[in-house]
Amino acid sequence: MQFLLNELVDKNRAWTNYGKVAGYIPELSKKDPNKLGIVVVDVKGKIYRAGDYETKFTVQSMSKPIVLLLALLDNGEEVFKKVGKEPTGDAFNSIIKLETLNPSKPLNPMINAGAIAVTSLVKGKTKEEKFKRIINLFRKVSKNPKLDINMDVYLSEKKTGDRNRSIAYFLRDIGILEGDVEDILDLYFRQCSIEVTCEDVANMGMVLANQGIDNESKKRLVPKYLTQIVKTFMVTCGMYDASGEFAINVGVPSKSGVSGGIMSSVPNKMGIGVIGPALDYKGNSIAGVKLLEDLSKELKLSIF
Ligand code: GLU
Repeated sequence: MQFLLNELVDKNRAWTNYGKVAGYIPELSKKDPNKLGIVVVDVKGKIYRAGDYETKFTVQSMSKPIVLLLALLDNGEEVFKKVGKEPTGDAFNSIIKLETLNPSKPLNPMINAGAIAVTSLVKGKTKEEKFKRIINLFRKVSKNPKLDINMDVYLSEKKTGDRNRSIAYFLRDIGILEGDVEDILDLYFRQCSIEVTCEDVANMGMVLANQGIDNESKKRLVPKYLTQIVKTFMVTCGMYDASGEFAINVGVPSKSGVSGGIMSSVPNKMGIGVIGPALDYKGNSIAGVKLLEDLSKELKLSIF
């Protein structure tokens, strides 16, 4: 496995010359597009690392499946009164279907509108208590008690996040969001700005792959059926509006983020964390997707 990972990183590094680092969050545009790294954690706890696996990046949309777990723990399937279960075919930050659908609600929890609605459902008396519960779950599933926000990215996103602000105010207008919109947005910006490495992300994917159980301590962290719901969303909507193509070429439940990270979860086998900051026009890491395609073919990882 180690040899294979080294070989596949070397082979796919040339792809980092294509695509662009996300520019709409100014702080992300400072990242080195030529990084490519991967960590694989298998169910037996073996860890394999290759390439620029030590690169730090923010979790961005890879936070969406984890916060969804928390909202489902807090509210059960009531969550789906506020957010649907279908792919959109639109960009992750699109606003268009919010107005045209009837009844109007975000189509799924993996697009920004759906994720903001999900974040608003996390329980806690105060915003600080809600964030504590969010970061604690991230620390548990990543096995990294030191996980925290990257303040520069958080402030950068908060300052420039007008698209998300528009979505959130629209959601309040149609009765999806309740409470203080700026507080909900602040929580969403914070969850997106949590700083991780490939290993943290691989561990997160591992908990989902292992049906909610920590593979080392054998402790159950979340109920199995919630991990099934989340992995299904990762297959149908996890790679933005390229989820169908990714399902055919890789066939593994995955969630990408605009930082160029990808969290993958191969049921009952492994969690995978990838970083490659240069993105295609849909927002997925070009080299990261190529690397996962090769790995999936070599190890026959497709679930289909
Ligand atoms: N924080 C990003 C945003 O809301 C997350 C998007 C993403 O990673 O897809 O725009």
